[in-house]
Amino acid sequence: MKKKTSTIILALLIVLGVLGQPAFAAPEEDEAPIVGLSGFLSETELTFEEYMALMASIARTGEHPHFLEENKQRYDAYRSENPDVPVDKVIAYVNADIDKGFYIDIQEVPNLNDVSLLVNKNFSLPPDWSPDDFVNTGGGHMMREEAAENFNLMRDAMVGDGLKVYVIITYRSYSAQRNTHGNALNQHGSALADRNWARAGHSEHQTGLAADILHKAFDKSMHNARYQNTKEFEWLTENAYNYGFILRYPDQYKDLHGYVFEPWHWRYVGIDVATAMHNEEIALFEEFYGRYLAQGVLDKTREFILQQRAPAEPEEEEEIEEDVPEEQIIEETPPDEIVDQPAVTPPPVIPDPPEPVREDPVMRGFGVTFFIPLVCIALGGIVVFRKRHN
Ligand SMILES: [Zn+2]
Repeated sequence: MKKKTSTIILALLIVLGVLGQPAFAAPEEDEAPIVGLSGFLSETELTFEEYMALMASIARTGEHPHFLEENKQRYDAYRSENPDVPVDKVIAYVNADIDKGFYIDIQEVPNLNDVSLLVNKNFSLPPDWSPDDFVNTGGGHMMREEAAENFNLMRDAMVGDGLKVYVIITYRSYSAQRNTHGNALNQHGSALADRNWARAGHSEHQTGLAADILHKAFDKSMHNARYQNTKEFEWLTENAYNYGFILRYPDQYKDLHGYVFEPWHWRYVGIDVATAMHNEEIALFEEFYGRYLAQGVLDKTREFILQQRAPAEPEEEEEIEEDVPEEQIIEETPPDEIVDQPAVTPPPVIPDPPEPVREDPVMRGFGVTFFIPLVCIALGGIVVFRKRHN
């Protein structure tokens, strides 16, 4: 059933892609908003790898799959202030609101249950929110279930390699964070407090997805930054992504995440996302978020994909098969050759070269006429790949 549907969708996509004329279906306005990566993947029925492959295939053509028309002025402004930052990063940073400055235009995290959610000085958690799937990772340190399972596997692997793992803190509630930041504020003033502690509602520790770990039990004389010189830190740098954890506050991006370098702070983002960051050599989570996880990017990509699929959905199989011009193909080809072949073996479709992009060559969006055939081809490729590997 699924295979057949895929074949039908593929056929339609190829036809639409070649024509370059999308049949836009009216969006269904009554649906609840679909937020976050998990919502996007379940709605589009793509795997994370397929989503990444689709974005990569668009990027390879020179288009910017992460470009959002509504952010264009902000891209230009950020670029003029930061001329040395490559365009791809400008787009990602702005999509992640890095250009707004810290604690100025704060948005509430839209996808609280996604393990790939972004919490920082621009995205906040509600005061009364806490995860509902806590698991004790040992010693009373609570993490969300998926994060805890992978954390325990990672800790076991480290211990198996002769390393030491002391958990300093995992979950911290909104009110505990408020006290922690408040105390720091009184002792050190706001600049230092904000560089070292998140304000209430802005801490990853409230998500139940972060763990502060050291190689020995914490004592107050300890300078945590020395953790970067340990074998434990080296191991984490090389292996943590396999367990879905990333270094959240890397040294080279202090200006962008707004904290001191925190070699002890590891955040669970899911194995898919952590592995993709590792493979693409993206060290800053905000950058990855701006490229692949920002709601605007997900919405835009989802809209294109669903618009392409829309015509296939209302019709059922028999009718749709009539739409596939099999008879025409048979008439044009010697019958012997065709009969033994599988019903639909799509030829590799190469798109016509895109028309020269109007106006700004750097900050162009993905134009409808160029983007849609690409989406079609990429999706077609994915379906073929799936079929071959089923
Ligand atoms: Zn921490």
